[in-house]
Amino acid sequence: AFFKEFIPDNLREFPVYSAKLNANENPYGASPMALEALKNSAFGSNRYAWKELYQLVDKIAAFEEVTPENIMMGPGSSDLLEKTAMVLFMNGGNVISADPAYMSLIRVAEAAGGTWKPVPLKKDWSHDLEAMEKAIDSETKLIYICNPNNPTGTITDSEALLDFCSRVSEKVPVFIDEAYLWFLEDGARQSMVSLVKEGKDVIVARTFSKIHGMAGLRVGYAVAQEDTLNKLQKITRAGMGITHPSVYAAMAAMDDTEFLQKSRTLNATARNYTFSSLQEIGFEPVPSHTSFMIFPIDMEGKEFLNKMTQQKVGVRAFQFLDQKWCRVSIGTMDEMQLFIQAINKVLV
Ligand code: PLP
Repeated sequence: AFFKEFIPDNLREFPVYSAKLNANENPYGASPMALEALKNSAFGSNRYAWKELYQLVDKIAAFEEVTPENIMMGPGSSDLLEKTAMVLFMNGGNVISADPAYMSLIRVAEAAGGTWKPVPLKKDWSHDLEAMEKAIDSETKLIYICNPNNPTGTITDSEALLDFCSRVSEKVPVFIDEAYLWFLEDGARQSMVSLVKEGKDVIVARTFSKIHGMAGLRVGYAVAQEDTLNKLQKITRAGMGITHPSVYAAMAAMDDTEFLQKSRTLNATARNYTFSSLQEIGFEPVPSHTSFMIFPIDMEGKEFLNKMTQQKVGVRAFQFLDQKWCRVSIGTMDEMQLFIQAINKVLV
């Protein structure tokens, strides 16, 4: 019984939530500088944004301290996860990842003809790197690691991960999804991009959807070896899906360090409140390093989601490791208070 997600009855009706805590979005909006750039660039919407996209690529390359040839853009990192899966698994093979993990790349790999080799997370919620390495066989085409991990919000020690990726990428490429890395405090934020600089076959995905607050604008990128990116770009014109105003918004968002810091701080405060409030009413939330948190629930997943929707609170429900879980995104303090009230009504 591996990873399963429960879907509420009314998903397609897009219920109006008072607290929409089901998609790990930034509750503080997009960066004000990004919004200003978006407005100012809207008139350019009749043009393709090739030139501007190159400017964004150059800016990202400078930020990541790699060359522009090491960068591939996509409309959200989903696009890069999915295209990687399509290219690598159209002739079969297996992908190794943690269970639970973020399932987007894995589900596309399966649809393309590949198989999933799940390796349960360890008791401390970190990746079982030893078991993942042992799971490699002649059919393995990719190792996918989400750090910090979704849906658990937990991290794997960066030194251990650096060592693992460095060694294992000699045998098989490693895909590191760093969508939530920016939520870690300064000092704890160790990206695996350094391995790309060392020439390792590591693909790092990053996104403007989370701490930058641009989920609706769709900009993400991958950092990898030029050869690897050329393979991935065989079936795609990278960046064709990104809109002209989104390119400008992303460039501005990169400069808005004040907004990034504010988002990180406010998220940590609301997360601490959520954690202690859940504990006070008898739940056992898993300590999170991200903008979401999981805790075990005793109710059937669909019923739980429907009841939470009646309270106008949107969350997610999963089953993994023989247990049912609620995953709640960290919203504003007001939203988290609504969430705790709803949990009190539905589960306590
Ligand atoms: N990777 C992880 C771990 C995520 O949680 C998400 C979105 O929730 C994504 C990638 C994809 O996000 P986007 O396509 O908006 O960049």
